[in-house]
Amino acid sequence: MKILLVGGGGREHALAWKIAQSPLVDTVFAAPGNPGIARHASCVDISVDSHDELVAFARRERIDLTVVGPEVPLVAGLADRLAAAGLVVFGPSARAAAIEGSKVFAKNLMLRHGIPTAQFSTFDEPTHARRYCRDVGAPLVVKADGLAAGKGAIVCRTLEEADAAIAECMERRAFGTSGARVVVEELMVGQEVSFFVLANGHDAMPLAAAEDHKAVFDGDRGPNTGGMGCYSPVAVFDDALEKRVMEGIVRPTLTALAREGAAYRGVLFAGLMLTAQGPKVVEFNCRFGDPECQALVVRAPGDLVPLLLAAARGEAWPPAHPWPHVASVCVCVASGGYPGKYATGLPIRGVEAAEARPDVQVFHAGTATREGRLVTAGGRVLGVTAVAENLTNAMASAYSAVREIFFDGMHYRTDIGRRGVRAEAPPRR
Ligand code: AMP
Repeated sequence: MKILLVGGGGREHALAWKIAQSPLVDTVFAAPGNPGIARHASCVDISVDSHDELVAFARRERIDLTVVGPEVPLVAGLADRLAAAGLVVFGPSARAAAIEGSKVFAKNLMLRHGIPTAQFSTFDEPTHARRYCRDVGAPLVVKADGLAAGKGAIVCRTLEEADAAIAECMERRAFGTSGARVVVEELMVGQEVSFFVLANGHDAMPLAAAEDHKAVFDGDRGPNTGGMGCYSPVAVFDDALEKRVMEGIVRPTLTALAREGAAYRGVLFAGLMLTAQGPKVVEFNCRFGDPECQALVVRAPGDLVPLLLAAARGEAWPPAHPWPHVASVCVCVASGGYPGKYATGLPIRGVEAAEARPDVQVFHAGTATREGRLVTAGGRVLGVTAVAENLTNAMASAYSAVREIFFDGMHYRTDIGRRGVRAEAPPRR
């Protein structure tokens, strides 16, 4: 089989690494890929936004399966374009990807179908949004409707903060047209878990859960990032809770989408809050998380490709392999200054030494090659990922690999996985 992987970050490196191990696969192309992905795939210089070129490439190369990594091309309709050209694609149509592309769509879908989520109201007038905030009182959360690179949800402890958030989204348009409409919702309290399932249009297959660490500094301090690391599994997300989420959230959501003419094929990422009243949806995403994907693939049993194919073609799932009782930790190594301004082009040392450790993969997120040397090319540079028989050992292994790596100004959190270690029970899926 020939596979085309669309994207060029850490998530796509993890997918390329896993896909290339499949005995079904002869060739993997990645567009645009990165120097890490280039070890498993032929990288072609096409951006994820060049839909015409991607479709033409996939047709010319007779690609058997295109796997779309990031949300932006999915929300913009890349899967529809590929499908219309007669190609098989893993990733939802634009209508189904609206579950991430429009928070208003996602919240109204959940409301119509009784799927547990925070109480909310939607607005396209700042004065109405402000009046509602005064009526319900703080704390609350103001969210831009559209895609905002993970920065569009603003937790407001006071009405003044809510005022500022509404101004930022709706008046100053900090997120462009994404902030023209906002959702204002109740602040939920509890532990957050990211749960991933594959969907084939009507049925779901659970993968696993992970916990992301969004804040830049240890102890969840400092501004939010795209994710500074994560671990999997999450002890509290046990079999009973998984079943409850599958029956009460995932399956009803897929049924609702199918009923509304937007059957969902691909990976559905449910961001959940485990509240005192039970699990509730914080948000849905239409793709794998980054860095959750890195922590998932190193644990994932068997061949991923038959599962991706079944999801893409809308077919029955192949027999499931049980997830092994192992744990993983992914530590993101970031550029100095990230998530603010940072330099690029800085030489990176020690990746080979880090990877020489058993059960460690170094996934490239923001790297480039200049004159034959590996250099930094983004905010999050590398995702150092270790798998071990338990979280304590996975954490020790990931951090000893991180200490092999060096570039000017690099920084990383030193506590990725610690919360999980405290709660560690025998590892499970
Ligand atoms: P979102 O973009 O909707 O995933 O929100 C980003 C982050 O904001 C989430 O991961 C949560 O930490 C936080 N958040 C969003 N909505 C809520 C909510 N209703 N209650 C509490 N925290 C929230």
